[in-house]
Amino acid sequence: MITLPRIISARFRIAITVKLRIILTAMRKSVQLLNATSGACLLCGNMDRKPRHPSFASLCTACFDQIPWITRIECQVCGRPEYCPDCSRRSDAAFIWNRSAVRYNALIREWLALYKYRGHEALAPLLGEMLLAAYHGLIKTLNHQHPLPLQSQHPIDAIIPVPVSSERLAEREFNQAERLGAYLAEHTLIPLHNVLERTRHSGKQSYKTRGARLRDTHNLFTANPALTGSMLSSLDQPHIRLIVVDDIYTTGSTANACAAALADEIKRQQPAALVELFVLTLARS
Ligand SMILES: [Zn+2]
Ligand SMILES: [Zn+2]
Repeated sequence: MITLPRIISARFRIAITVKLRIILTAMRKSVQLLNATSGACLLCGNMDRKPRHPSFASLCTACFDQIPWITRIECQVCGRPEYCPDCSRRSDAAFIWNRSAVRYNALIREWLALYKYRGHEALAPLLGEMLLAAYHGLIKTLNHQHPLPLQSQHPIDAIIPVPVSSERLAEREFNQAERLGAYLAEHTLIPLHNVLERTRHSGKQSYKTRGARLRDTHNLFTANPALTGSMLSSLDQPHIRLIVVDDIYTTGSTANACAAALADEIKRQQPAALVELFVLTLARS
């Protein structure tokens, strides 16, 4: 009569302890993400944080070392780190080069998912710094291969984010390409011009084959005439260099369609303009 309640209470105690441990782990993870600036690593919560790089001070050494940086480029057009059959097939490249900061591996997929779908805004400066690193790589190559006219202040005149559809915007409440572009604009002092618009909703690109993506993205974007006009009058020069910014480069069809839409509208408004378009993406899949 006395032992039975004791057995029940022991089981109950174990169940309570397990549940408490789950709750505490979840709470600790949330606190780690919230208190990213207070000393713990933004991604793993490691308190013993000795950053390898001042721009990545929110990460511990172990997390920083996992970033799959693209250090050696095999395809000069799309910035791919290995042999690239896509660019040799492409006959209508509307942009000069794409440069991506990192490979799109499982880790980067997870970081982008935390940011895009789970709203971990604390990741924004980290992803922005990664894009900034790709920007510096692009400018280094640009200065080496296409030296600037002496009178140019900036190597690039404007940053143009790839737009998301209004359906996607309603889902996520923000456009990740625009946020990345804004970070780049803030740190390079290059103006951001939101001139591109989607003509329709194209569905999730990640579920489609290469052929389907290419068909789908044709004429998917348009450059708003009034916004493009005000961008051109603010730049007021015959030689225009623009960067299209997005989070992921897969087949390049999105970037290409955006660059083509921009080039078309600029040529329509300023037929004599020399337009050079580049693409900057966070991850290369
Ligand atoms: Zn860490
Ligand atoms: Zn390529």
